[in-house]
Amino acid sequence: MYEIKATQELKKIMRNYFQSLAQEGKKIAWCTSVGPAELLRSFGFEVYFPENHGALLGATRTAMEYIPESAKYGYSNHVCSYTTSDIGAFLKGNTPLLKQYGLKSIPKPDLIVYNTNQCREVQDWFSFFAKQFDCPIAGIHPPRYVDEVTKEEITLVIDQHKRIIPLCEKVSGNKFNIDRFRETLRLSKEATMLWQTVLKTAMATPAPISFFDGVIHMGPIVIMRGTQQAKDYYVRLLEELSDNLNNKTGIVANEKCRIFWEGMPIWGRLRMLSDLFTENNAVVVASTYCSSWIFNDFDESDPFESSALAYTKIFINRSEKAKMKMLTNWLNEYRCDGILFHDTKTCFNNSNAKFGMPQRLKAETGIPFLVVEGDLCDLRFFSEGQSITKIETFIEQIESSKVHA
Ligand code: SF4
Repeated sequence: MYEIKATQELKKIMRNYFQSLAQEGKKIAWCTSVGPAELLRSFGFEVYFPENHGALLGATRTAMEYIPESAKYGYSNHVCSYTTSDIGAFLKGNTPLLKQYGLKSIPKPDLIVYNTNQCREVQDWFSFFAKQFDCPIAGIHPPRYVDEVTKEEITLVIDQHKRIIPLCEKVSGNKFNIDRFRETLRLSKEATMLWQTVLKTAMATPAPISFFDGVIHMGPIVIMRGTQQAKDYYVRLLEELSDNLNNKTGIVANEKCRIFWEGMPIWGRLRMLSDLFTENNAVVVASTYCSSWIFNDFDESDPFESSALAYTKIFINRSEKAKMKMLTNWLNEYRCDGILFHDTKTCFNNSNAKFGMPQRLKAETGIPFLVVEGDLCDLRFFSEGQSITKIETFIEQIESSKVHA
């Protein structure tokens, strides 16, 4: 069976990261997954990402115990299930971090910072915790659903980044240091470029990494951006995947069908879905989700402008026109035979199947699509039997259209 050996190293560095959050005397900043992590690290904060905790609640399937707790507190079951499972776990005083990494609780924040480039839900979610912990909170609110990003839009976002500096100085006790910011951004850029190269290995056949591996191995680029450890990890991972490319070793020896995954992962069913594609000689070779942590605009010579640009032009924050262009490029680059849209019930921000985009994309590219209904954490929205049948039928149809072409 094909396996990526670097996973052992990944477990080690993830453990080290979480244990560093638990050390006495460290100042902790909470940040959204595509928030200004580099700026926060430049002040010496350890940075914690509640979305990563949400993903862990989903992957361990404990989310299902906690979502009803936040419902009692007034949070609708149709609200982002990262938010509802994370708040529910907090209300119950539990965390999977205990079993996974030995942490008794989520790290207490000294400062909370969010960026609504992905959704407004993060503002509600993080504000709940700011109140619970009586902690200062600051937000970046860039223009949403941008087409091509304009100079005026970036100027606005730069100002918003600069406005949080006095608060960071006050809470961290450290003066802003532009050289430290440049250095953190340089490390982040190097890691993100390595991450992009890692993902691009799946352009080859047989692909040595799939979406289901990607969502695990993306851990460091999400939670350790701006550290040497993240960069070193991707050097190690890339070495292994390059060897596998040279040896023509991949997920599926007899690769018959290459699929693109659009939308959020279904965290509680990663293994089942990964096995399902493999058993059908199909590989999910690329995704919008894993590609969302490629920030090739980072530039240490202009850290404010380049990070404002990189964090504003992410896929989730773009117009349909820009998204269609990005998707078409990815479908071509990765030679995809089909695209699966995950219609995520509690995250309309990251679901692009609701307003006819799959149909319009098919009309433009000719690439067939499938819509699967589900959720990131709330498995009540995912019908396993029905989804298996839909996916198997989709793969069969793609294969038979290839044979008859
Ligand atoms: S993008 Fe979606 S899943 Fe992520 S925090 Fe926002 S609503 Fe939740």
